[in-house]
This record gives sequence, structure tokens and C-alpha cells, in this order.
Amino acid sequence: MKPSLSFEFFPCKTEAGHEKLIATARQLAGHGPEFFSCTYGAGGSTRDGTYRTVRQLNDEVGVPTAPHLSCVGDSKAKLRELLQQYQEAGINRIVALRGDLPSGMGLSGGGELRYASDLVAFIREETGDHFHIEVAAYPETHPQARSFTDDVRNFVYKMEAGADRAVTQYFFNADCYFHFVERVRKLGVEAPVIPGIMPITNYSKLARFSDACGAELPRWLRKQLEAYGDDTQSIQAFGEEVMTALCERLLEGGAPGVHFYTLNQAEPCIAIWRNLGF
Ligand code: FAD
Repeated sequence: MKPSLSFEFFPCKTEAGHEKLIATARQLAGHGPEFFSCTYGAGGSTRDGTYRTVRQLNDEVGVPTAPHLSCVGDSKAKLRELLQQYQEAGINRIVALRGDLPSGMGLSGGGELRYASDLVAFIREETGDHFHIEVAAYPETHPQARSFTDDVRNFVYKMEAGADRAVTQYFFNADCYFHFVERVRKLGVEAPVIPGIMPITNYSKLARFSDACGAELPRWLRKQLEAYGDDTQSIQAFGEEVMTALCERLLEGGAPGVHFYTLNQAEPCIAIWRNLGF
């Protein structure tokens, strides 16, 4: 069976960026994704941009598109209004998150819901079974979690609150994914856990993202990428090889699909997907 394939985008601030995003999405649509998703700036910084992008990807590019929605920094009234807008627009998938507020805004940022599990429960209360809900998973442990065991238990709460599926933070070590899935299965979670895949195209950006989200960049990978310096072509060729091998191992080991963090670029994702034989 063909594995599930999905692509994530971020909304752009400029018209030129937005046009490029739509062109990228059209290219990726040709590879038969199950869905697209579009990120949301916690606290609502991209509220309009996310909504506009989701509508265009869904209605014009023609791929079912899930908005990301985070609960920190947004009141219940605001979340309710957004859910209604999406429901009326015929959107029936959503990625439910806690979100990360910019520093200085406090932990909740004025939001009334504290954790993603609260948001999942809220979406179910407000909209019943209308939305297919995805949540985030952290095979390497969420950076603020007290322990792996705590984090896994908190993940289980989200699923019990009514989530249908999970997408992981990106990682470069397949074993952490298998270990995480084994743990949650033992705790009764049967829902698919889709590995999030970050194509490697730029070392400094990757290092910055990884620091910010707590994804481990293994020493062997870091050293090799550092050694390429400004040689973008070699970084991309090596990145493609590493990520293809990781996806192969994940799919062979039973991962039900892959979710690409596209960073609004088509080629790196298409190259990996083709190398996998699809
Ligand atoms: P939660 O599941 O609420 O977990 C957050 C922390 O709280 C964890 O340490 C967890 O162990 C702990 N916790 C959870 N429940 C409890 C509880 N009941 N008691 C005690 N502790 C608890 N961020 C954005 O701002 N916008 C996006 O669009 C976005 N998209 C993302 C997409 C994916 C696939 C992923 C993996 C992440 C995304 N993020 C996004 C980042 C995410 O918002 C952050 O990682 C955030 O810090 C945690 O979000 P969460 O939904 O996993 O939170």
C-alpha cells in the first residue's frame, strides 16, 4: 500500500512569497498527497495569512488542507470563531497544538486553554466529529517535558481527548521513532503516528531550527554538513541521501507515511519521494 504523504507550509508575509508558495503547492499536488497543512503563529500573528493560505490550497490547488491552530495566546471566543470560519469553508481537518509564544508574552499569553489536550477537547466540544484532528508528537521528548515518561503520558492525554492521528517533530534517528511508537502502543494508542521529515538544504538554518525546537542534530551529521561550508550543492546531495535512507528505514519499519516540512520548497521533498520509488 502507498504510504500516506502530506506536506506542511508556512504562510508568507509578502505577495511574492505567497505566489511562490502556491506554485510550490501545485507542484507537490501532482504527487498525490493525502493533505496539506499550514502553520499558525501562536497568539494569532498569522491568523489572516493562515486562513487565506488554507482556503487557496484547499479550494484552488484542490488538496484537502488542514490549518494548524494553537491555543496559547487565543481566547476561547477567538478559537470558536476560527473553528466556525473553517467549518463554514468546508475545511474538515485541523492540526491542534499548544503553540510557542514569542518570549516576553508569558506562558499562556492570555489564552484560556493551557495544553494541546485542552484544545483537542475544546474542538470536540464545539464541533463534534466535524474535524479530523492531528496532534504533535516528540520521539526525542518535548524540550519542556520533565521526562520522557511524562511526555508520553501527556501525549496519550491528547489522543484520549479525541485526536485521530499524530505527526512527529523532525528527527534524524529512526530508533527514537520506533521506541516512541512502541511505548504509546503499550499505553493503548492505536492511532497512526506519522514521522515529520525535514529535508536538509541549508546547514545554518537547520542548526537554528533544531536548537529552537529541541531536535537533535547528531554529531556525525553536523560535522559532515559543517565540512561542506558554502558548498550548497554538496549539502543538498548529501541531505537527500541521508533523508532518503531515513525515510526508507522508517517505512520498512512500519511507519504509515511521511509528513514533509517543506519550508515552502518543492524540489527537496520530491527528490526524496522519488528516491523512495513513488
Ligand atoms: P502539548 O501537547 O500541550 O505539550 C507541551 C508541553 O506540555 C510538553 O512538554 C508536554 O509534556 C507538557 N504537557 C502536556 N500536557 C500536560 C499536562 N496535562 N500536564 C503537564 N504537562 C503537560 N507551533 C506553532 O506555534 N504553530 C504551528 O503551526 C506549529 N505546528 C507544529 C506542527 C508539528 C507537527 C509539530 C511537531 C509542532 C508544531 N508547532 C507549532 C510547535 C509546537 O507548538 C511546540 O512544540 C509547543 O511547544 C508544544 O506544542 P504541543 O501541541 O506539542 O503541546
